[in-house]
Amino acid sequence: MRLLFLGSGSAFTVGADNYQSNLLLTNDAGENLLIDCGSDIRFSLYDQGLSYHDIHHIYISHLHADHVGGMEYIGLTTLFDPQCKKPNLYVSKDVAHELWDRSLAGGMQSIGNDLADLNTFFTVFKINRQAGFSWSGIQFKLVRVIHIHNGYYLMPSYGLFFEIHDQKIFLTTDTQLRLEENGQFYEEADIIFHDCETSKFPSPVHVHYQELAKLPEHLKGKMWLYGYQPGELPNAKKDGFFGFVKRGQVFEFT
Ligand SMILES: [Zn+2]
Repeated sequence: MRLLFLGSGSAFTVGADNYQSNLLLTNDAGENLLIDCGSDIRFSLYDQGLSYHDIHHIYISHLHADHVGGMEYIGLTTLFDPQCKKPNLYVSKDVAHELWDRSLAGGMQSIGNDLADLNTFFTVFKINRQAGFSWSGIQFKLVRVIHIHNGYYLMPSYGLFFEIHDQKIFLTTDTQLRLEENGQFYEEADIIFHDCETSKFPSPVHVHYQELAKLPEHLKGKMWLYGYQPGELPNAKKDGFFGFVKRGQVFEFT
């Protein structure tokens, strides 16, 4: 099993150095699970010699465009290419509820002589938060992360916790640092792929590097950082982390 970072940058990363943080998990049979499908996905797949042909399963964490903006590309190209099977889509019930109506319907609802919906393009698995989902023998637990609270309600957003060959992996997706909420996953994981903003102008919705740098050594020592802005990066290894994930970096789990 291998985990490829198609990109490791922030939502609005620019230039040839990086793409949005979308990941591809590939099993030994060559089947792929795409973890988030942002608006950069055509280019980040192409750079790896891949295309929509290679996307068989998709997980969506939340509705920002760097996580769902490539769904129109995958949905329309696979629908009209007779070589393609309908991709499976795994998405939390509450995210699924809004994915079509509030993000995708505008561009995908009208096709030829018909009206489409999410099921036209994808075989949809609406995930019960407690139950999680399984893919290729791996059980994925959904971890509700605190990404954005707008003052009225929490925007639904879910990271993943899963185990491959005795390695427990926590992929935060976009999040603030909230140990009081999700501390157990930080402790339990062997390896943490953590959202990490490096902007000079920190946002309130992503954890900043400076905040992560204050974490205890035993947590930093299992963290790879991603989701960062373009430009110079701090010396993460010196500060006790594994480091920043680079675009195209592969993690093998054997
Ligand atoms: Zn986001």
